[in-house]
Amino acid sequence: MTEAHHHTLGAELREIIAIEGPISLERFMELALTHPTLGYYTTRDPFGVDGDFITSPEISQMFGELLGLWAAQVWRQIGAPEIVHLVELGPGRGTLMADALRAAKAAPEFFDAIHVELVEASDIQVEQQRAALAGCGRPVNWRRTVEDVPPGPAIFLANEFFDALPVRHYVNSPEGWRERLVGLDAEGALTFGLSAEVEPYIKVKTEDGSVLEIGAAAQRLVTRIAARIVTENGALLAVDYGYDLTTLGETLQAVKAHDYVDVLAEPGEADITAHVDFSALSRAARAANAKVFGPVGQGDFLIQIGIAQRAEALKAQAEPEVAEQIDLALARLAGAGENEMGELFRVLAVTRRGVEDIPGFAGDDATS
Ligand code: SAH
Repeated sequence: MTEAHHHTLGAELREIIAIEGPISLERFMELALTHPTLGYYTTRDPFGVDGDFITSPEISQMFGELLGLWAAQVWRQIGAPEIVHLVELGPGRGTLMADALRAAKAAPEFFDAIHVELVEASDIQVEQQRAALAGCGRPVNWRRTVEDVPPGPAIFLANEFFDALPVRHYVNSPEGWRERLVGLDAEGALTFGLSAEVEPYIKVKTEDGSVLEIGAAAQRLVTRIAARIVTENGALLAVDYGYDLTTLGETLQAVKAHDYVDVLAEPGEADITAHVDFSALSRAARAANAKVFGPVGQGDFLIQIGIAQRAEALKAQAEPEVAEQIDLALARLAGAGENEMGELFRVLAVTRRGVEDIPGFAGDDATS
């Protein structure tokens, strides 16, 4: 067995680093997730009980249905444009969009206005999405990046997308902050190191070894989407594991088969994520002159947009075992406990200034 027959991303990264020198954590994470032929998302379908992790739309149809009804209401509040792009970033198996469109049929004028746009880096996921959306009743286009979505009013949905965008780490030392890099150790294995140069612009005073995690790619993307919403009309709904206030510390993690693994151990074989810094995303949207709602907990958001009523309606037609599953899904999605997603997952929306009271954010003090 030669390397050529079993070329892994780890081998490719070691070659790149041997030639170019250490690379940034940002580049490492981007390649580990979306390298065109060896990346984590480009080589597998990672979702579900048998996969590496499970997401809200895969837990219950209620999640996508409620987001579809949310989008219908938001569409009315932004002036009911005749054509609206319903854009999903990183649609995974396509479950959320399929459920959203089915629910949106209850609002026929909205449904008829929808052009579906799916932004997806992985051809394997595109195939899954194509199957999930066959016969959905609306035109569907696939795009590699947000920039490829045609102009016009657009409602963007993103569930567990921003946490897959690469982050940078800076580590404090007596001389100042240095960027964390991925290099090679004496045996030629991947290892973390630090840049020789200190960062001239980071002036935070704190202890040695403190880590600053910056989601620059997510911030740039929100800046572009918010600017587009301001000029073209529309909205963004971002749902992710994250935190409301920027703070020191790192949240980078790798998960394989529902277990934590070493980030550098098997690049391309494990999911790598970082928690989303929602205050940084809010600042990015406001700097683009957009209006921000939230962040609020996923539980509060889903309760406000009617998940409890939806669960009751589904249970009324279900066998007892199925009804029990519906209650478990409701608790998992909206509950505030440690293994539940209602508090840990945060929801943020962006619109043009002047849009009032979009569903799910009543009583949210941070809205501005
Ligand atoms: N939203 C889905 C999937 C979340 S996983 C769900 O909730 O189930 C992240 C998704 O984003 C996958 O479909 C992955 O292939 C895609 N993805 C990751 N990084 C991307 C990038 N930089 N550009 C486009 N799609 C990306």
